[in-house]
Amino acid sequence: MNQPFHHPIPRDATIYVAGHAGLAGSAIWRHLQAQGFTNLVGLRSAELDLRDPVATRDFFAQVRPQYVIDAAARVGGILANDREPAEFLSDNLRIQVNLIDAAREFGVTRLLFLGSSCIYPRLAEQPIKEESLLTGPLEPTNAAYAIAKIAGVAHVQAMRRQYGCSFICAMPTNLYGPGDSFDPERSHVLPALIRRLHTAARNGDPSVTVWGTGTPRREFLYVDDLAAACLVLLERYDGDLPINVGTGKDLPIRDLVSLISDAVGYAGEVIYDPSKPDGTPRKVLDISRITALGWKPTTSLREGIARTYSWFLDHCPTRA
Ligand code: GDP
Repeated sequence: MNQPFHHPIPRDATIYVAGHAGLAGSAIWRHLQAQGFTNLVGLRSAELDLRDPVATRDFFAQVRPQYVIDAAARVGGILANDREPAEFLSDNLRIQVNLIDAAREFGVTRLLFLGSSCIYPRLAEQPIKEESLLTGPLEPTNAAYAIAKIAGVAHVQAMRRQYGCSFICAMPTNLYGPGDSFDPERSHVLPALIRRLHTAARNGDPSVTVWGTGTPRREFLYVDDLAAACLVLLERYDGDLPINVGTGKDLPIRDLVSLISDAVGYAGEVIYDPSKPDGTPRKVLDISRITALGWKPTTSLREGIARTYSWFLDHCPTRA
């Protein structure tokens, strides 16, 4: 971290964006295109199942990517994570092991592994510094996902130490933006509330239900800001520590509800359902390291919600 690192990526380099159809991957793809990269590669999971080691290896042998961004993962909100720990653990372990092993075997110049802020201990000191990793017990609702992602960090660090691979990790906070999943049961809180409050406003419902107590605090990063951070890290960072990517600002779920209600025009009552899990009480990242590299978030939460809502209106097939 103390060594200044400068590695401009040639604009014609072959860059494989794993998970390019997902929320993070699609934003990374858009950003790389806008920055003039001409040789991006992305395959949908129906074309390449990254859980399959042979298929993944064959793909690397054929395409020979020079750079890899691993934004491929099974993701979901608090309830999906809580109900399907087996798939969240198994799918994510297999995807990342296959990618990281193949990247080493085929001599990938740089790999960026995307983790998540849920890898940190449930009661980590806030704002959470990168050094908090593995210093305490995890939040149980997403422990399976977190353990898979922690294994990914350890795998990248092992590749660096044993084989000298220039691979790195970024830990994004809760992401949102265009291309997100708006599934009412499985999605993360921000898109779930956009959908629910929009539907309530459209139907003139007198009340809506929000999960949990509304008191947990969360940090939200607009996904295009994450995409810019990924390129900054690939070009300017080469160290063992995973690097946090967030805004450094958090708010209670209740305040998020107010912001989204304003955006979608909902004025009814909000009922909190404490039978649904709250999850970790607070999760906000210390972003000193990445800001020292010259990156900072540029999209305010209000602006990001407006853009995400507009995308939802244009793309959600049911408009419900
Ligand atoms: P987390 O950050 O890993 O806990 O993931 P989520 O984005 O799924 O949830 C964040 C917080 O929002 C938790 O405290 C939830 O209880 C709360 N929440 C409130 N309503 C909803 C909802 O409709 N969907 C989800 N996923 N979370 C909700």
